[in-house]
Amino acid sequence: MGILKSIKRGVVAAGKSSGTFRLIADSGWRQSRLLILGYHGVSLEDEHEWNGALYMSPAKFRSRMEAIQRHGCAVLPLQEALELLRLRHLPPRSVALTFDDGTYDFYKTVCPILKEYGYPATVYLTTYWMTLQLPVVPGTWSYMLWKGRNSVIDASSLLDQAVTFDLRTPDGRSRALRQMRAWAESQDLAGEQCDAMSRQLADLLGLDYQEFRSKRIIQLLRPEEVKAVASPSVSVQLHTHHHRTAKDREGYLRELQENRRQINGILGSNPTHFCYPSGNHKPEHIPWLREAGVVSATTCVPGIVSASTNPLQLPRLIDTSFLSDVQFEGWLAGFGALLPHLVRLRAA
Ligand SMILES: [Zn+2]
Repeated sequence: MGILKSIKRGVVAAGKSSGTFRLIADSGWRQSRLLILGYHGVSLEDEHEWNGALYMSPAKFRSRMEAIQRHGCAVLPLQEALELLRLRHLPPRSVALTFDDGTYDFYKTVCPILKEYGYPATVYLTTYWMTLQLPVVPGTWSYMLWKGRNSVIDASSLLDQAVTFDLRTPDGRSRALRQMRAWAESQDLAGEQCDAMSRQLADLLGLDYQEFRSKRIIQLLRPEEVKAVASPSVSVQLHTHHHRTAKDREGYLRELQENRRQINGILGSNPTHFCYPSGNHKPEHIPWLREAGVVSATTCVPGIVSASTNPLQLPRLIDTSFLSDVQFEGWLAGFGALLPHLVRLRAA
């Protein structure tokens, strides 16, 4: 371990044990700031073993909610938190919870836990795969390739060319995924055609596609489930229709408009809060977001929000399976933000 790293570890450990934790958590500095936490999925089965950056086990997620309660954090709806921040009236240790994409587990697992703790949340819903009601690609391909991690398969029928997938190493699985994505892109495949590839891949790997599909792993909420989760404490907001960052203004606005139209069609609401898909944000997006009537936008840049933060570039702590309890609690107190390099982050 490098000297700098060991000093920083020491700071976190000492901070927790010596009362510095409380000192910072109770400071005026922390009280004038909002910590926005970002989550993706909570596993229905073994998804966190496949991708611990995207998925967390239900036990781990519950322990996070428990820590938030134990440290006396005020969990606020995002919109209210941003208003109180502007008015400089945030309660001590303010936190807002956000969930990206709107996967089925939000309905199945997350909502019941949030209800238990009485915590409000924002779901950033991407809508294309919701309308298809199919397992999302390429996540599903990556998951299946991991499921078949002991095998070497002839994938010629899948990619219409002589090719072998050696899935016994992470490198081999990445290569296979890259080849599948490149093929789908070169053929300009629509969602249903990508799903046909998922089915074919499952067959090649000896996986039961119907069973996988019925489990709802790596699938989005269905419209009726969006309706069921939406409430005064669960706000459904924007994340683009295709989970895509268009390069030009027209394309960017189209993604937002279609996403909003879909959500409005289900809830009759007019969502104005946004999360950048894959955390991709550039200065030129800001006027486009304003034009679309977006009032806040969250990134995957680790940090804590202050009154001077641009509301269209809000930093968030993306919480993952890789973040230790001590690091997480450091962020709740406020000093995690001082040590952002401790966090292993992957935008998603
Ligand atoms: Zn996303």
